[in-house]
Amino acid sequence: MNFTETDEQLALRAAVAELGGRYGHSYFLKQARTGGRLTELWQETGRLGFLGVNLPASYGGGGAGLYELSLVLEELAAAGCGLLMMVVSPAICGTIIARYGTDAQKQHWLPRLASGSSIMAFAITEPDAGSNSHKLTTVAARDGGGWVLSGRKVYISGVDEAEAVLVVGRTADARTGKLRPALFAVPTDAPGFVYRPLEMDIVAPEKQYLLFLDDVRLPADALIGDEEAALMQLFAGLNPERIMAAAMAVGSGRYALSRAVGYARERAVWDVPIGAHQGVAHPLAQVKIELELARLMMQKAATLYDAGDDMAAGEAANMAKYASAEASIRAVDQAVQTLGGSSMTAEYGLAAMLASVRTTRIAPVSREMILNFVAQHSLGLPKSY
Ligand SMILES: Cc1cc2nc3c(=O)[nH]c(=O)nc-3n(C[C@H](O)[C@H](O)[C@H](O)COP(=O)(O)OP(=O)(O)OC[C@H]3O[C@@H](n4cnc5c(N)ncnc54)[C@H](O)[C@@H]3O)c2cc1C
Repeated sequence: MNFTETDEQLALRAAVAELGGRYGHSYFLKQARTGGRLTELWQETGRLGFLGVNLPASYGGGGAGLYELSLVLEELAAAGCGLLMMVVSPAICGTIIARYGTDAQKQHWLPRLASGSSIMAFAITEPDAGSNSHKLTTVAARDGGGWVLSGRKVYISGVDEAEAVLVVGRTADARTGKLRPALFAVPTDAPGFVYRPLEMDIVAPEKQYLLFLDDVRLPADALIGDEEAALMQLFAGLNPERIMAAAMAVGSGRYALSRAVGYARERAVWDVPIGAHQGVAHPLAQVKIELELARLMMQKAATLYDAGDDMAAGEAANMAKYASAEASIRAVDQAVQTLGGSSMTAEYGLAAMLASVRTTRIAPVSREMILNFVAQHSLGLPKSY
C-alpha cells in the first residue's frame, strides 16, 4: 500500500490545479448564470490531454487510469470549476467503449472523447425507473440489420453539448423473449430523437434533459459491445461514475473549505479573526477530516479499479460516493455558516453551491441505494425490496 503519489501524478495534479486556477469559480458562475457553457475550459482540458488521461494510448488517450482521471476532476472542482461531463463522457462512456467496444467503435469514439472534441452523454434514468433499473422500459427491436429504439429518459445531463448519448435500453433475448439490458450509442441528431430541457434549481452550466426516443433507427454497430454481456458492460461504467462523482464532490468540498478558511482568517468582528473562535474553527477542522477520509476511500476505489478488481472496487466506489457526498454537503454548509451574510451574496457565490452539492446525495446513485448495497453485499443482510 502506498499513500505517496508518483512524480507523474503530482505533476498532473499541479498542472490541473494551475489550469483550474486560471478559470476558477467566477468563470463557472458567470457561465452558469448567463446560460453559457464551460466550452473553453473543456477544450483546453482536452488539448492538454487531461480529459482522456484514462483512455488507452493506442486510441489517443493518456494510457493512465481512473486514479488519474479522478485526480483531474478533483483538482478542477477544487478550483471551483468542476466539469460534470467528465463523469459521463471519458469516465462512463469512454471506459465502457474501451473495455467492451469493437475495434471500429474504439477507433471511432475514443480519440474524440479523449481530445474532448466530442462529448457523449449517458442515459439510464427513466421517469418510472429511477433507482430501480430493473423497470427500464426503453426497448430496442431488431430492424433488418439494425435496431429501432423507443422509450423515455429523464434528468440526462449535457445532451445539448453531446454528439451522442449512450442509452441504456433493453433487447429481447432471442431464446427466452426476456428483456435484458443493452447499450446503444445514439446520435443526438438522429431522426426520432427529441430532447427538451428540464428547469432545474441548480446553479450550473450543464443542463438536464428529458429524452423522447420515438422509433429511432440505428445501424447494427450502434449496439456497444456484446448483446450477451451488456449487464457486465453496464457495471463496468458504474464504478467509474461513482468514483468520478466522489472526485467532484471532494473537490467541491475542498473549494468551499478553502474559501471558508480564507474568510475565517481575515474577518474580525471582535478583537480576533472569527477563525480564532472554536465554534468556527472546529466545524471547519471536522470538514477537513471528513474530506480527507472521503478522498482516501475514493483513491482506494480508483486504485482497486485500475488494478482490475471490479468487485472490491464496487464496494469501495459506493462507499467513496457516500462519504464524499456527505463530506461535501457539510463542507458547503459550514462554509456558508462561516461567511455569514456574505455567503448569500452573488459575489461570493457560495450559496450557489448548495443545490449542486446536495444533489450528490441523490445522484448518480442515492444515499439509500448505497446503504442498501452495503447492507446486502458487505453485511449479508436480506434485501428489503
Ligand atoms: C443534476 C442531476 C443530473 C443527473 N444526470 C443524469 C444523467 O446524466 N444520466 C442519467 O441517467 N441520470 C441522471 N440523473 C438522474 C439520477 O441518477 C437519479 O435522480 C437518481 O438515480 C435517483 O433516481 P430518482 O430521482 O428517480 O429517485 P427515486 O428512485 O424515485 O428515489 C426517490 C427517493 O427514494 C429513495 N429510494 C428509492 N428506492 C429505495 C429503496 N429501495 N430503499 C430505500 N430508499 C429508496 C431514494 O434513495 C430517493 O431518496 C441526474 C439527476 C440529477 C438531479
